[in-house]
Amino acid sequence: MAIATINPATGENLKTFAPLGNEEIEASLALAQAAFTQYRKTSFAQRGVWLKAAADILERDKLNFGKLMTLEMGKTLKSAIAETEKCALVCRFYADNGADFLADVPATTDGSKSFIRYQPLGIILAVMPWNFPFWQVFRFAAPALMAGNVGILKHASNVPQCALAIAEIFKEAGLPEGVFQTLLVGADKVKDIVSDVRVKAATLTGSEAAGISLASIAGSQIKKTVLELGGSDPFIVTESADLEAAVATGVIARMINNGQSCVAAKRFIVVDAIADEFERRFVEKFQSLKIGDPMDETTDIGPLATPAILQDLDQLVQSSISQGAKVLIGGQPLSDRPGNFYPPTILTDFPPGTSTETEEFFGPVALLFRVKDIEEAIAKANNIPFGLGASAWTNNEAEAERFIDELEAGAVFINGLVKSDPRLPFGGIKRSGYGRELGIQGIHEFVNIKTVWVK
Ligand code: NAP
Repeated sequence: MAIATINPATGENLKTFAPLGNEEIEASLALAQAAFTQYRKTSFAQRGVWLKAAADILERDKLNFGKLMTLEMGKTLKSAIAETEKCALVCRFYADNGADFLADVPATTDGSKSFIRYQPLGIILAVMPWNFPFWQVFRFAAPALMAGNVGILKHASNVPQCALAIAEIFKEAGLPEGVFQTLLVGADKVKDIVSDVRVKAATLTGSEAAGISLASIAGSQIKKTVLELGGSDPFIVTESADLEAAVATGVIARMINNGQSCVAAKRFIVVDAIADEFERRFVEKFQSLKIGDPMDETTDIGPLATPAILQDLDQLVQSSISQGAKVLIGGQPLSDRPGNFYPPTILTDFPPGTSTETEEFFGPVALLFRVKDIEEAIAKANNIPFGLGASAWTNNEAEAERFIDELEAGAVFINGLVKSDPRLPFGGIKRSGYGRELGIQGIHEFVNIKTVWVK
């Protein structure tokens, strides 16, 4: 895949970048390693100052950064600006809390003194996706840099200008040279980079295939990885739920980022008693969404990021239809315009055994399932290889408790949409990945948890 900015709303190739050669990659790794030897000795207070300076820059230039994201991957400008603000938040969160999260932890043993000390590992490679081109990077970088690691970013090939802008932000914030670098390289270079002895660990957010590839290589060299992969999150609505709130939130939860979010609600599992009414209102809301230019403030849904994403999504839709699923709205790409536009789509009545119902639909397509009761809802929700997030709607405490306890997911949200929050850990189970980002758990992923014992 060429490293290029191609406007997904028009298909126009705006700028192509030559990938770095082996010598340039070597120079970057050498620089990162040299930077680490000094950076690891800096204080938490100093790192916090740099992260807060990055937050100030993000807030100052949020409109420009927002426009860049919209231009490269098609999210609506308003959501891109909100993403920039959230990046500032995560920088401030770790600047304020990093020292506490990484403070020595005393233990009582047979020694005169024993404790745990958290220490940085060195160069961490981050392989990141295009869907939240700033957020995915900052949620890795803020804790990793606060912990004293240095970062190498291999960003998705369709967001090179976002990747370069992020490196500039850290530079302007005052971080020493080499502490955070963007390497414009294709996926074919990841193997060499992660295999380099100076690179100590890696994190990847993206597809299962990419995760398997990176983790296999890293694993063969006993290097730690964190994987944030795909999902097909359930959104369960019971009879006792506030139906109006559930429908309104369900639409947002499915359409977030033009439908291209790992934790978007993708499977709507609704109990029979309220299913007709839910379906009627859900279709009505989908009909009212405005598709179009993502730079336009009134647009709800912009284009998909690339023609390949659109093609993959449409293949899943057509395969579902040919296996007997019913289309309630949408169901075909919008061919009346340039760009990668797919309409809000709802599929339902999947015949038993339809192969696509356990796949991830990465775009504005909702799958609607009817179930008899909460028992069946939980079984349906869990009957999938993924386990990222789950949203369940109920006003019955016993039901809520069952959802919290029995849903197989890295996060359960009751009466709310699944979202990431710097204060809470984020990650999946099953084939959605392992490890956690954010919260105190996120900053503990890439550190040496050193045991100290003194006689
Ligand atoms: P992708 O193709 O896996 O791309 C993600 C990153 O991995 C890109 O930088 C890509 O580089 C790189 N990559 C691709 N193949 C690779 C390989 N064999 N070895 C090493 N690196 C490789 O992912 P995508 O399809 O663009 O993104 C969508 C997927 O990401 C969805 O499944 C979504 O659910 C998941 N996702 C998960 C989370 C989460 O937090 N769990 C968040 C967002 C997205 P190139 O661009 O150069 O190919």
